[in-house]
Amino acid sequence: MRSRIGIDLGGTKTELIALDGSGKEVFRRRVPTPQGDYAATVASVVALVGNAEKELEAKGSIGVGIPGALSRVTGLVKNANSTCLIGHDLKGDLEKALAREIRIENDANCFALSEAVDGAGKGAKVVFGVILGTGVGAGIVVNGEVLVGPNAIAGEWGHNPLPLPRKEDLPLPDCYCGRKGCIEGYLSGPALAKDGENIERYEERLARALAGVINILDPEVIVLGGGISNIQRLYANVPVLWRPYVFSDQVATRLAPPRHGDSSGVRGAAWLWGR
Ligand SMILES: [Zn+2]
Repeated sequence: MRSRIGIDLGGTKTELIALDGSGKEVFRRRVPTPQGDYAATVASVVALVGNAEKELEAKGSIGVGIPGALSRVTGLVKNANSTCLIGHDLKGDLEKALAREIRIENDANCFALSEAVDGAGKGAKVVFGVILGTGVGAGIVVNGEVLVGPNAIAGEWGHNPLPLPRKEDLPLPDCYCGRKGCIEGYLSGPALAKDGENIERYEERLARALAGVINILDPEVIVLGGGISNIQRLYANVPVLWRPYVFSDQVATRLAPPRHGDSSGVRGAAWLWGR
């Protein structure tokens, strides 16, 4: 069976894995991402694929997770915090260099897909996957497929305003996106550090923010990823704290840690070509 190659093109590192036909990992490599240099970034991805396929002695399907999205209008990269990708035809340039069709998805969507396929959301119809890291991103998987939407922003909950801001949430923090009071401004790793690592306040904010998601999407599982997903107390405390904000007599939604940890993004990129 054909192998599936997944690439997680992050701001600081680029990782590649290859999965065999059964989903088993057979190859993995990680290199630093060239900083601020688009052409070098493309060349780095192409070299990684070349090395992997030489070692595997086979070609694979290629999926790439990026910290951004492809515009539905132009096909060019938008919303990327690795800003050197913005405005480039990354899909076209990689397809030309690798001589095959490739698939590109937002990294949070790849994370959600990985956890939905064979991770903490396995068997669930609707999975909301959240990355709480340097930034805050999220993706939605329905019946095993990433929900993209006409604007390619499904799950971009990090730039919704934090619901019901309290005195301690003010003044509303400025966000790089140009808005104020974005969820990312409270729930990212840097935001938690800036708030003196106040975990109780963090849990309360996360609960308010996720209750809004539950009221709209009603997912079976919310899977957390990113560095903050390692804080174990969140999984016990947040589902208690979100109850008053969820419009339901009972809340069956589970809050789960990731099964694949740091590998979820790259695994989800590999799964972009289906099971
Ligand atoms: Zn924002």
